[in-house]
Amino acid sequence: MSSILRSTRFATKHSSQLIVDLAAILHNFMQIKAHAPDALIMPVLKADAYGHGICEVGRLLEDHGARYFGVAFLEEAIILREAGITTPILVLGGLSGSQIRGFLEYDIDFTASSSFKLEKIKQEAKALGKTARVHIKVDTGMGRIGIQHDRIDKFLSEVTNIISKELEVVGIFSHFASSEWEDLSFARLQLERFNEAVHKFSTVMGFTPLRHIANSGAILQLQESHLDIVRPGLLLYGVNPLQFKSELNFKFKPTMTIRSEVVYFKVLDENQPVSYDCTYKTKDQTRILTIPIGYGDGFPRRLSNSGHVLIRGKKYPIVGKVCMDQLMVDIGAKGEAHNGDEVILLGEQGEHFITVEEIINNTGQDPREFLLNLKLRLPKVYVNG
Ligand SMILES: *Cc1c(COP(=O)(O)O)cnc(C)c1O
Repeated sequence: MSSILRSTRFATKHSSQLIVDLAAILHNFMQIKAHAPDALIMPVLKADAYGHGICEVGRLLEDHGARYFGVAFLEEAIILREAGITTPILVLGGLSGSQIRGFLEYDIDFTASSSFKLEKIKQEAKALGKTARVHIKVDTGMGRIGIQHDRIDKFLSEVTNIISKELEVVGIFSHFASSEWEDLSFARLQLERFNEAVHKFSTVMGFTPLRHIANSGAILQLQESHLDIVRPGLLLYGVNPLQFKSELNFKFKPTMTIRSEVVYFKVLDENQPVSYDCTYKTKDQTRILTIPIGYGDGFPRRLSNSGHVLIRGKKYPIVGKVCMDQLMVDIGAKGEAHNGDEVILLGEQGEHFITVEEIINNTGQDPREFLLNLKLRLPKVYVNG
């Protein structure tokens, strides 16, 4: 279990948990492999593996054949190294000069977005007697980091003088801004720009490093973008990135369950308010349950009066505002529940499901944002490892 609640000196079992299904993550990894058979898979483990636990997911996938990992920051890469991960790791984000030494000491691949940065990396590598492994980032339309695609000629003219035995260009990559859309015309334009930049690189440098651009949306929708490496994030964690398309020919499994329990049961008469600001009033006499989970656990406040939970195989509405640590559920005049009953807020119970897709439909969040917030306080429990 990892959570702020672990610091308690009492060995209690917290009533709410985030259950991470390792077999489901592995299943999704294998599905991605089958879907992109000619590419290496670079699972993206940034932000604590989208809230699933960076070391647990890293170890699992290293043990099952992952040959590259992607993270956002050097610190995340170091966490993996210190957990014993030896697989190559690429830091996908921008490089701050003071961190170069850390990359070299921990044997982490750099993302380089300018000849200036390449020169600095080379100097430090030389001083330490090491070889730096670098991926060149090309900005083809995301507008975040990278050498702008239409300035690649200038970059290449500078780079020929920098490349040396201390600097190994392992990869060249870019990132899509809209691979999750139904309209793929901008993604196609980005891919075209990227292929042209790679072509220029190969012509000038005389070799082609590993080419990569595909995130989850592109893995599903743009086969021609798979190239040498694909970089799945969301897909690995069992969420459909395509909001316009609910049926996919890609069989992935949800990886997270949020489980809690009933801690309080009461009967309210008609016209009684529930929770802050009295936004809900009972219509008739009804049974109201209290569940010990709230937005302090990352459960979205936007599900006030709009979300659902599963209890005893039935789906019931969340009523009133979601509080920081508790929320209320109306099970009607005849609903059955007892203190201690299992409550599922995300996942499966009996014949019903509550999916990430359903929740974000209600909250308007990006699915990644929803998943990440869950690590605020919920203790994680790993199953099927
Ligand atoms: C986060 C990220 C990914 C993974 O994105 P998903 O859409 O979640 O698959 C891939 N590449 C880069 C550069 C990223 O920042």
